[in-house]
Amino acid sequence: MALSKLENLYRQMILEHATHPHHHGSLEKADQDIELRNPTCGDVLTLQVEMKDGKVSDIAFSGSGCTISQASASMMTDEVVGKTPEEIDKMVVAFSEMVTGNESDDVDELLGDAAILAGVAQFPARIKCATLAWKAIYRAVKTDDKKSTLGFLRHDE
Ligand code: ZN
Repeated sequence: MALSKLENLYRQMILEHATHPHHHGSLEKADQDIELRNPTCGDVLTLQVEMKDGKVSDIAFSGSGCTISQASASMMTDEVVGKTPEEIDKMVVAFSEMVTGNESDDVDELLGDAAILAGVAQFPARIKCATLAWKAIYRAVKTDDKKSTLGFLRHDE
């Protein structure tokens, strides 16, 4: 596929996720309820997570924001259901590295559709929009004794 066609396809997928986000709404019974903001863009995200047997069993998000923040949240929620906190940590690291231009070979495997957001690396002003939902899930499944090794998370704490 020609690069321009691929880029169009990615743009369509991003718009589709932003217009019809997956797991949008709220949960009746959430184990974690986290609200994060990205003041540089005005994105607001509330993430609710339900855990069962040490894995994410259900997830929902609400809030408002730009296309990238909404699409990223929609893609993230698709990918983390059924995953353990340890698996999610790896995904968050891979995602944050990818959008800052350090894409590893296994991003497609680790991140599924969310790997198409790699192009955000070309738009530094959009990186925080893309990472907002991933910061939220990282915090939602964070264990008490876990120390963040991620620059963007350390920065906030
Ligand atoms: Zn944004």
